[in-house]
Amino acid sequence: MLRNEEIDQLTGLSNLYSFRAKAQKMIDDPELRKKDLVIIYFDVENFKAYNAKFGFEAGDRFLQNMSKSIKKIFQELLVARFSDDHFVVLAYANSIEARINDVYRRVKGYNPDADVQMKAGVYELEYDDSDISMACDKARMACASIKNSYDVIVRVYDKEIGNRINLANYIMHNVNEAILKGYIKVYYQPVVRVLSGKICGFEALARWIDPEHGFLMPSVFIPILEDAHLIYKLDAFVVRQVCEDIKEFTGQGYKAFPVSVNFSRADFHQRDMYRVVNDAVTSNDIPKSLIHIEITESALGDESGILKGTMDKFRQGGYQVWMDDFGSGYSSFNLLKDYEFDVLKFDMKFLQDFASKPRETAIWENIINMAEEIGIQTLAEGVETLETWDFLKRVGCEKAQGYFFGRPMSKEEVVDYLDEYGEKALGDSSAEPRYQDLLNDDNAILLEEDTTETLEEQKASLAEELYMSNSEMYTKLAAKGFAALLEYNSYSQFQKYSFFIVADLTNDKLLNLHLSKQRKILDKRYRSEDSYEDMIDEIVRDTVIQEEKGDVSTFFNRDRLVLAYHSGISSDDIEFHRIANVKVAPRWTHTTYEIVEEDGKLVAYFLSFDIDEYKKSKELVTQMAERDTLTGLYNRHTAVPLIRNRLYRRQKGKAAMIMMDVDEFRDINDRFGHLAGDEVLRRIAARLDEIFGRDGIVCHIDQDEFLVFVEDVEESDLKNRIDRFSGNVFEVRFHNDLIPFTVSCGYVIHPDHGRGYHDLYRKADAALCNAKSHGNGLSQKYDEG
Ligand code: C2E
Ligand code: MG
Ligand code: MG
Repeated sequence: MLRNEEIDQLTGLSNLYSFRAKAQKMIDDPELRKKDLVIIYFDVENFKAYNAKFGFEAGDRFLQNMSKSIKKIFQELLVARFSDDHFVVLAYANSIEARINDVYRRVKGYNPDADVQMKAGVYELEYDDSDISMACDKARMACASIKNSYDVIVRVYDKEIGNRINLANYIMHNVNEAILKGYIKVYYQPVVRVLSGKICGFEALARWIDPEHGFLMPSVFIPILEDAHLIYKLDAFVVRQVCEDIKEFTGQGYKAFPVSVNFSRADFHQRDMYRVVNDAVTSNDIPKSLIHIEITESALGDESGILKGTMDKFRQGGYQVWMDDFGSGYSSFNLLKDYEFDVLKFDMKFLQDFASKPRETAIWENIINMAEEIGIQTLAEGVETLETWDFLKRVGCEKAQGYFFGRPMSKEEVVDYLDEYGEKALGDSSAEPRYQDLLNDDNAILLEEDTTETLEEQKASLAEELYMSNSEMYTKLAAKGFAALLEYNSYSQFQKYSFFIVADLTNDKLLNLHLSKQRKILDKRYRSEDSYEDMIDEIVRDTVIQEEKGDVSTFFNRDRLVLAYHSGISSDDIEFHRIANVKVAPRWTHTTYEIVEEDGKLVAYFLSFDIDEYKKSKELVTQMAERDTLTGLYNRHTAVPLIRNRLYRRQKGKAAMIMMDVDEFRDINDRFGHLAGDEVLRRIAARLDEIFGRDGIVCHIDQDEFLVFVEDVEESDLKNRIDRFSGNVFEVRFHNDLIPFTVSCGYVIHPDHGRGYHDLYRKADAALCNAKSHGNGLSQKYDEG
């Protein structure tokens, strides 16, 4: 055997291969295995910078010195250099930490001017460990796990690192599938204008909702995908999804808002991101101005020029480029000089650091002024309080983003959010086009935007539709199909349970009525030429349940119908409970109408039909779908509309929205495992249901967060109920572990603190944050001050 093949030339230590062979022999030796053994993996962070600063020869001397130090302190079994600045030791497990610290001091002391960090990962060999490579890997992983943790030098491998590594592997191997199967979703966080508080865009943030690992945040999967050079897959997907979503949103009549997407440095080395973006934009046919590119400050300073080249290409191509997380690193101001940007996004840490100190206003004002002078807009991230918003107004920051204005939301939630903020573009989808008018009037035909049809072709298809709606057979078939959908046994049964009224609204006259089964109720008293209003009054009085009388009578109100018609609404629907017979429960009824002008009069056609069966079967299905499988509580999707509905209807009395969060839930998962974490959640769910389930809506929002909405409660009662919850340490037994946990609460009172869902939610959340900031297991009412 050639000796120099076993030996590292620079240090004289064993190399990787001979270490493996020798170490394997040692651990196979039963005598030696009676002792406790460890593998230690040493790494020098920033060693490249050392070489760059002091030259390669000095770098070599540094490594020789390091090798001497390690050898001196760990001389008992084996010391090796695997590569560059990576040393590996097999040693007896005594005073390991002290000895590593000793090495650390020597390495640090060798050149006090150098900014190098030495790290060590330790793996304690188990009795049944037989594979030396695997053991070295675990030591290396332990070492890698403290990378960038400035003041940690040693880490011993444990189950948590193992779990992390497993998760990392899972993420790397499943990213394709997660994209394909829709586990990765794009969430949107609103960006607002500071002065008006109005939405001016969204940031796209990735979420991985995994069937096996649950809700994963970007801080978990992004670094792993970046390291594995797979991040471009995610980012290309996000851009495409965003473009599709924008197209869909605008198609539904929402105003188009620009969306910014995040790119990592690695993206630009793997793919032509400009092309990726451009393809997504063109194939969805949306303007370039709706996509902005965010690049984080730490990605910059890239020497290769690829990044700068691509950024310039984006800007020349008509896309805005934003610098993300400005102020989080060190070289911020130089970057402003070297790279061209449209928007500067201040890191949220920056805001927290400055906004609470007396000199901050001047500093912020100056940075913002400077940015403005060179034509860059400013945006502050992480705005969580009204106070911060006020501060931003004072210093003149243009845009803001943060939990105060809205959390990252799923696409469905964005729709709700826009509805609440009145951002839906005006337009009435219920008004059907008047086909005949369109056909008769050449100028009235609007070419649909996304069509290749000529005007003639469009007219032809319009005539087709007109023919269909005028054909008796078509109407009959449609009605038959429709009756079957509503779960009638036959069309004639449908007719029996329906009624059809034609009324002259202009002169308050009934023109025609086909009451079929309703006849009995109306007592045959009404004939054509009688007053429409009188009949409606009677129908409402006698056949509509008390709670809905108001709504139904408004719906049928003659003046309202006429007014609505003149403002462009010629048809509408209502669903209400009709009492068909005092002996049976009220039944769901659907009424729809269409108003047309006939001979200068407004004529309304009403059709009412029974939808009770349909409603019941639908309710059953939704009830099954609307529960969270883990806890059996409502999930967010179903609870939010329920709460909204109740809020709309509230008139007097108080209601409360309570937000809850398990303290240190992550710790519980890490220490006891996910199944134990699930058990804790189930326990909380059961308890919440017991305390609030009777008169409230209890919802499992996600992960460790719960939301409760209760109505008509006295505050003292509310407080009592919350105290049965917060302020206690609970315990759950899971296998052999007794798991203690606490829950924090924040709550708001309707209408004292607000009326709208989002407003209340945000404030409950703020109260929760506040409670948490004072410790675990506390509850806090929202405080407006
Ligand atoms: P970022 O681009 O700086 O995004 C802002 C982060 O701050 C988001 O975290 C957001 O949820 C969070 N945030 C927003 N408002 C507040 C607030 O008021 N208070 C607090 N405490 N946090 C707030 P998130 O979604 O966990 O994303 C973390 C980072 O992961 C992002 O930082 C971004 O750099 C990266 N990232 C997210 N999605 C993608 C993606 O699709 N591609 C790439 N390459 N990176 C992504
Ligand atoms: Mg960002
Ligand atoms: Mg940021």
